[in-house]
Amino acid sequence: MENQNINLCACCAHHYESIDIFCNTCGYPLQGTKQQQDAFIANRTVKEIDLVDLKKKIESARNSLYIITAFLGISGLFGLFFIKEGDDLFYYLISYVILVGAFLAFAVWSKTKPASALISGLSLYVIVQLLNIIADPATLFSGIIIKVLIIAYLIKGIIAVLEVDKIKKELNIK
Ligand SMILES: [Zn+2]
Repeated sequence: MENQNINLCACCAHHYESIDIFCNTCGYPLQGTKQQQDAFIANRTVKEIDLVDLKKKIESARNSLYIITAFLGISGLFGLFFIKEGDDLFYYLISYVILVGAFLAFAVWSKTKPASALISGLSLYVIVQLLNIIADPATLFSGIIIKVLIIAYLIKGIIAVLEVDKIKKELNIK
């Protein structure tokens, strides 16, 4: 019984049995050479640093969704000043409310389901941009740097979410 308290993995501090060759929790080579054990810990440390980096990319992507929301909200209000007689105000307002609402929902949703929310947000954003270009080709170049940046952050975020899942599986953390 006393022995159980001593058998704690040097890497993750979880308990292991004396007959275990690898730690059941983290995969640490319990019976390996000092060199193998050091290499395992070094590799794990690198992955943990990667994880911090990837999480920052996901945060940037989530922020992009909030930026899109704010930007659409502001341009929707601003556009009210340019409504011409004969334009359908009701249709205009409804379409902006739906768009702003959708991006806000994706932004909030991305906290719990980042992959699905970011993919949905990116798809809707690209569709909106394409519709704008079809309606008025001149919109392609208005604010193109911001548009490209937003798309780039969203794509980086989606890739980061997938990498984080992979590393978490390797490190056996949830
Ligand atoms: Zn372990």
